[in-house]
Order: sequence, then structure tokens, then C-alpha cells
Amino acid sequence: MKKISILGSTGSIGVNALDVISRHPDKFQIVALAAGENDSLLQSQIDRFKPKIAALFNEKSSDKLKKTIKDKNVKIVSGVDGVIEAATIREADMVISAIVGAAGLIPTISAIKAKKDIALANKETLVMAGEIVMREAEGKCRIIPVDSEHSAIFQSLTGEKRESIRKLILTASGGPFRNYPEEQFKDIKPEDALKHPNWRMGQKITIDSATLMNKGFEVIEAKWLFGIADENIEVLIHPQSIIHSLVEFIDGSVLAQLGIPDMRIPISYALNYPDRLENTLPSLNLAEVKNLSFEKPDTEKFPCLKLAFESLKKGETMPAVLNASNEVAVNAFLNSEISFNEIPEIIKQTMNAHKVSHAKEISDILKADRWAREYAKTEIQKSKEQKPN
Ligand code: NDP
Repeated sequence: MKKISILGSTGSIGVNALDVISRHPDKFQIVALAAGENDSLLQSQIDRFKPKIAALFNEKSSDKLKKTIKDKNVKIVSGVDGVIEAATIREADMVISAIVGAAGLIPTISAIKAKKDIALANKETLVMAGEIVMREAEGKCRIIPVDSEHSAIFQSLTGEKRESIRKLILTASGGPFRNYPEEQFKDIKPEDALKHPNWRMGQKITIDSATLMNKGFEVIEAKWLFGIADENIEVLIHPQSIIHSLVEFIDGSVLAQLGIPDMRIPISYALNYPDRLENTLPSLNLAEVKNLSFEKPDTEKFPCLKLAFESLKKGETMPAVLNASNEVAVNAFLNSEISFNEIPEIIKQTMNAHKVSHAKEISDILKADRWAREYAKTEIQKSKEQKPN
């Protein structure tokens, strides 16, 4: 019986992970759940999965949960300390890291320090602090990717040597605006950008997919997970999202992993690695899919991808600045404070203003993160003031 803690249990990945786990009660047991503020969904997850600890970051939501909870054997905790308690609970063998954004970093690092295997969905952890996180994990735990692209690469690398890799090719759907005229980007509404053609995901990653920042983040994630130089990582637009990524080897062979776009497949693989878990999802029907097409990404139209590569070149604190300014800009776009095409502008301005410093410890990363958030917010405020009412 593998004992699991889920950080971000009320989100898209968390709910899918619980769905997989519920189908294999003989293999997995939930020992901790953590979320942000959704007390009613967490309440029903507690009733069903009976964890020992349930954490809500938001104090008010946690107080509400404490009052309504029927099962008094569950310890309800709150704040970042509460989420860390769920991440480091003694009983857990594996922690599913599925909090959205920078909020996932400290709980994930805490789980690594507590020697828990990590099923990693929270890519922001590796974007912000990839080098530090991978160093911390060495000899302590395994980090198994949940992101479908990285799961595809991870699976394609089974039994292979790192020296045999020529390049990694990350596929991207291209998002809802692949064929949309660039001149109209300024008129894109949050509700348009929230319609991903192939995947159902949380709001932030859906916007990141529409700007292609998500793919930029995945390049950074791949660099740290697989130890591959950024010049050997390519992005390929593949609108059908059937090939989840590819690896080219030094002999010219290319291996890929294919499947229907359903996150329960990579989640299952991470949960039960190295063995596969049976499921009842529909088979991939290539005759029905008919065509698999590919094109180069347009980094002029989608500058976020270019900004992500640039942040990797600069390294040190710059990827954390990329991440933080993106988080602030995406939030502002979702609140209709800035337009879609201003997202990369805000990030670029923030990166240009940042004085890169050595990212030796997490405190250096957090300092850069705080600085970038403040800077990006000021830029957004300026942009709002310049617009006619
Ligand atoms: P969602 O927005 O659907 O869910 C986010 C989860 O994080 C919720 O459970 C939320 O709780 C919780 N949360 C937010 N802030 C905090 C906090 N401060 N402390 C504790 N919990 C918090 O996101 P997704 O599930 O889509 O994505 C999660 C991560 O997985 C992201 O990093 C994303 O990039 C990555 N990922 C997602 C994929 C997908 O298909 N969705 C695919 C690949 C990667 P609450 O709802 O209660 O506020």
C-alpha cells in the first residue's frame, strides 16, 4: 500500500489524481490533503478518502472547515505551515505536488527534505529554483514528472543513457490562438483564452498555454529534470496533442509516447512507477484522429516562449523573475486589468529591469520573486493609468 499526500487536491490535477486513486484502493491510501481555500470540496474529499491531515492555506476557510467537519479524527491545519505539515507527514511515501504557481515551491522542497518521492505537476517549482531543487533531491527521493510532456520523455528514456540523447522535442498544442490574427490579440477576453482546444486544466495553466509561456516553463522544467542543455531542447507545435513529446538519440532514432489527452494517464504512471496501472479510459484511435500535423512555433507572435529561453540563458534569479511577473500579469489579465498582448510586455519589462543575482539558496529565489511581483504590479498600474476610461 503506497501512502499518498496530495498538495492541491481541489484543483484539476488533484481531482484527477483522486479519481485514479479511488479506482485502486488496494494500492494507494490517502494520508494527507492540502488546498488553498475550497473548504466545501476538501470537506467532501475528507469524507471519502479519510486523510489523517487536511490543510487549507486560507485561515478563514480552514476555520470554517473545522466547524463543519464531522470526522473528528482528521487534523485540520492552516497557513503555509499547515500545507508543509501535509507535505511532510511521516506516513507519506509519495507527495503529489499540484499546487498552482509559486505557492507550490516551499511545500515541495519541504517534502523533498522529508525524503518523500515527488510526483511533480507544479512545474513552477523547477522554473523558479530548478538547480537548487534537483540538488536537494539528489540521494533523498525520486522526482517523477506528471506533466504529460515530461512523462512522455521520462517514459521514452526508460533504459537509455543520458549520453545517448541528442535532443528533447516538447510538443505543444499551440493553444486557442494559434491561427488567430496577431492584430486582434488586444481584444482577446479571459473567457476566450480559457477555452483550451484539447485539455481541461486550471485557469492559470490554461492562460499560460494560450500565451505559450506554459511551453517555455516546460523547457525549463525539462532542462532540470533530465539534465539537458537548453540548446538541445526544441518545441514543436502539434495541434492534436496525441504525441506528448519525443526524444531524439545520437543514432537518429526518435522515441515518443502517444495517448489520448487525459491527465489521468501521466498521473497513473507517476503514481505507480515503474509499473503501469490499468484504467478504463478509451483507447487511442489513430484511424479516427487521421492526421498528426506539426509546425514550428511562432515566437514573434508568442513572445513568452522566447522570454522563457532568454531567462534560461541568463539563469540564476532570472527564471524566478519570469515566473513571478508572469503570475502577476496572468492574474491582471484574468481580472481584465490588462490585455492579452500586454502579458509578455509586462514580463519583458520586469526581466529587463532585473539585476540578475546568484541564486544560491531558496531565500535568493524568494527575494527575486518578491521584487518581480512588486515591479510587475507597478508596471500594470502605470499601464492602467495610461488607458482612457
Ligand atoms: P488548479 O488551479 O486547478 O488547482 C490549483 C490547486 O492549488 C487547488 O487545489 C488550489 O486550492 C491549490 N492552491 C492554490 N494556492 C494554494 C496555496 N497557497 N496553498 C495550498 N494550495 C493552494 O491548477 P491545476 O490543477 O491545473 O494545476 C496545478 C499545477 O499542475 C500547476 O503548476 C500546473 O502548471 C500543473 N499542471 C497542470 C496540468 C493540468 O492538466 N491541469 C497539466 C500539467 C501540469 P483551492 O482550489 O482550494 O484554492
